[in-house]
Amino acid sequence: MGQKLELFDVTIIGGGPAGLYAAFYSGMRDMKTKLIEAREELGGRTLMYPEKIVWDVGGMAPVRAAQLTKLMIQQAQTFDPTIVLGQQITGLERLVDGTMRITSATGEQHWSRTLILAIGHGALKLAKLNLPGAENYEKDNLHYNVTDVASFRGKRVLISGGGDSAVDWANELVGIASAVTLVHRRDRFSGMERNVRRMKASNVQVLTPYAIKNLYGNGNRLDAVSIAPLNADGEWTDETEQERLAVDAVLINHGLRGDLGPIVDWGLVRENWNFNADEKLATNLPGVFVAGDTANYGSKLYLIAGAFTDAALAVNSAKLYIEPDASIRAQVSSHNSKFDEKNRALEIVEERSRRDDLQEV
Ligand SMILES: Cc1cc2nc3c(=O)[nH]c(=O)nc-3n(C[C@H](O)[C@H](O)[C@H](O)COP(=O)(O)OP(=O)(O)OC[C@H]3O[C@@H](n4cnc5c(N)ncnc54)[C@H](O)[C@@H]3O)c2cc1C
Repeated sequence: MGQKLELFDVTIIGGGPAGLYAAFYSGMRDMKTKLIEAREELGGRTLMYPEKIVWDVGGMAPVRAAQLTKLMIQQAQTFDPTIVLGQQITGLERLVDGTMRITSATGEQHWSRTLILAIGHGALKLAKLNLPGAENYEKDNLHYNVTDVASFRGKRVLISGGGDSAVDWANELVGIASAVTLVHRRDRFSGMERNVRRMKASNVQVLTPYAIKNLYGNGNRLDAVSIAPLNADGEWTDETEQERLAVDAVLINHGLRGDLGPIVDWGLVRENWNFNADEKLATNLPGVFVAGDTANYGSKLYLIAGAFTDAALAVNSAKLYIEPDASIRAQVSSHNSKFDEKNRALEIVEERSRRDDLQEV
């Protein structure tokens, strides 16, 4: 069987709001916990809208998504779970004793007694330009990220996208490049309003609803693209006229897309993107639970608040799967002795800052 792996009580797949809260709550339930995230950073889809202000998380004053992400990550680490980044989980096998062996796309293996799938709409990956041969130009002047702003100096740049990244880069590059054109499939932008206004008032040529239709180059380096307006259905017709644009660099900012990958072949019952679960977040596979946007049940709330509730329910179900006699939920934190030491540490900090305040007066 190869190497001997550490066995975890629960392995949470996905490091968005649901996975992060599950990692915290499973610590409250004394479970040996591992969290695996496909990306190199935690946060899930909250990473897609860092500047947006979130109002609808209970008990929180309006908070930028970036700050909320930071707080969720901090909370997830309360009980020191093992956190693995950069692995997309693809395979599941059940050993004779019921242990689950899960494998990643890059071949790593993990053992666990239970699984919580908190995978949203799948592993988040950069949405690529879906045109023939596009990937060949990535070697040279078709970009998905800007790593060196200075390399755009004096160039004719075409940006495609309407979110924060596209708008921010248009604003940043307009003072550096010789010309910046931005095309977006919709008339409405999802980037911050203030930055959209700034872009529209600048020298950026903004074309909506437009998209890139064809690429022209020698197979390695692009020297022109054709762009064309979309009709009300977001499509092109045979009559659509294309406009050819000479370019030195093309920057694609189409956001992130979910990829469920081979998890769809695990035998889980699902509807489109979502896996069916009962009110305890149990799926049709024993020991496999779901939480967050990936879950499908009658009263499911597709919100961060809903992800938190799902996570606690899924963890409780995982605990009872391993220990049927355990209590059905963790004791509330305000009465839970697991926090005694952490509370004392916080009280010392509070006391110190009270004394400092008094000294200042
Ligand atoms: C633009 C925008 C604005 C929003 N605003 C709000 C708001 O104001 N309030 C609100 O409550 N909600 C808001 N939402 C919704 C909210 O972001 C989601 O409900 C929430 O992120 C769901 O959390 P999740 O953990 O279930 O999934 P996700 O956040 O999607 O996280 C899933 C994670 O799992 C990882 N993953 C997937 N598959 C695998 C795999 N096979 N292996 C390893 N890792 C994997 C993914 O990479 C991802 O990091 C907004 C969403 C968007 C897109």
